[in-house]
Amino acid sequence: MSVATQQKNSHYYIDLENDHGAHNYHPLPVVLEKGDGVYVWDVEGKKYFDFLSAYSAVNQGHSHPKILAALVEQAGKLALTSRAFHNNVLGPYEKYVTEYFDFDKVLPMNTGAEAVETAIKLCRKWAYEKNGIAENQAVIVVCRGNFHGRTTTIISFSDDDNARDNFGPYTGGFVSIPYNDIAALEEVAKQKNVVGFLVEPIQGEAGVYTPDEDFVAKAQAICHANNMLFIADEVQTGIARTGSLLAVCGNCTCENQCERQATYTKPDILILGKALSGGAYPVSAVLADDHIMEVIKPGQHGSTFGGNPIAAKVAMAALDVVSEEHLIQNARKLGDLFRLEMNKIIAKTDLVVKVRGKGLLNAIIINDTPESETAWNLCVKLKENGLLAKPTHGNIIRLAPPLVITEEQMMDCVAIIEKTIMEFKKD
Ligand SMILES: *Cc1c(COP(=O)(O)O)cnc(C)c1O
Repeated sequence: MSVATQQKNSHYYIDLENDHGAHNYHPLPVVLEKGDGVYVWDVEGKKYFDFLSAYSAVNQGHSHPKILAALVEQAGKLALTSRAFHNNVLGPYEKYVTEYFDFDKVLPMNTGAEAVETAIKLCRKWAYEKNGIAENQAVIVVCRGNFHGRTTTIISFSDDDNARDNFGPYTGGFVSIPYNDIAALEEVAKQKNVVGFLVEPIQGEAGVYTPDEDFVAKAQAICHANNMLFIADEVQTGIARTGSLLAVCGNCTCENQCERQATYTKPDILILGKALSGGAYPVSAVLADDHIMEVIKPGQHGSTFGGNPIAAKVAMAALDVVSEEHLIQNARKLGDLFRLEMNKIIAKTDLVVKVRGKGLLNAIIINDTPESETAWNLCVKLKENGLLAKPTHGNIIRLAPPLVITEEQMMDCVAIIEKTIMEFKKD
């Protein structure tokens, strides 16, 4: 091995990032160079189970051959036209994605935050043009502990000091209620000019908070009784992650078109991102029916890259994979298994107090103060034992593997987690 090659270990790359990149993240000290399915490899060649899946973007697994082929083929043909011209991929994609999720129309964007912004603009415009709200008076209800992205408007209604502090002045027109609080929603819905409710069906970043089973359905009913739009941010929870196509589908395990199921709560506006591309490309979308989407007219909203041919082809392939490989059913089945196994471990240790979640979006709650380093230290030990996960707010570790994980792989992961927790106890 040459000296130059020898130097390019993890430390080399971490130092480069440190020296030249803004310090806006605090990653685990691991440098990845390859991924395949549920596995990733670092630059030293060590193999890990990925239990973050890029915040649920990689639901279909790393480097999925079908998604990769779509990406490469379209990149070699036509990458970007902008929306100044038509292309022969956008229309087929729009037909595909609206049928897949059962909406009249889609508005394609790139990142989750852009899609949330789009949904906010759509809701406001609908309120002024269809609901008679006076200019600039529309108010959208959000929940405490929310995470909807990082734009100036979105952080304006965050209650995470880190996300907000010294980024003001903030955008107005939002009111915040506690999560999973139907009475609070009912109360605020009575106020003048309240036009929408923007909510995550499960709060992912906040620490995988699963609301009451009937929260989403009741919230939608309140919205409709008060002329408000029910806006579901399923950027993290959507596309099979929680053991149904969308978290708002409740207990439905069909591949798509959940309308027949009594448990399905159809949002007025649905926001998707992350796994819409299987992680191969930034692809996000806002879906709504005509009576809402028709308020947006030419020139009023857009994105240079939104709905580009690569994104369109990649998204279709990514959604095909969800259906063809029965990822909804797998997430449901292995999620049940995972929580069962975690509860067995919890019975044997004081370190972990609880596991919660749905499908394969789960979290374990560490028995320590939110300020302590215990969850971080445990993640470092998990990494040493071959499993990558990241603490989220407080002492909570989110555990969300790609949905292509097999039962055998899951049991290997359970063994790693158990071993790590038991070793950790002795420290
Ligand atoms: C990740 C996330 C977003 C933001 O997506 P980006 O692609 O990072 O902009 C929005 N909402 C939820 C619920 C998310 O988890």
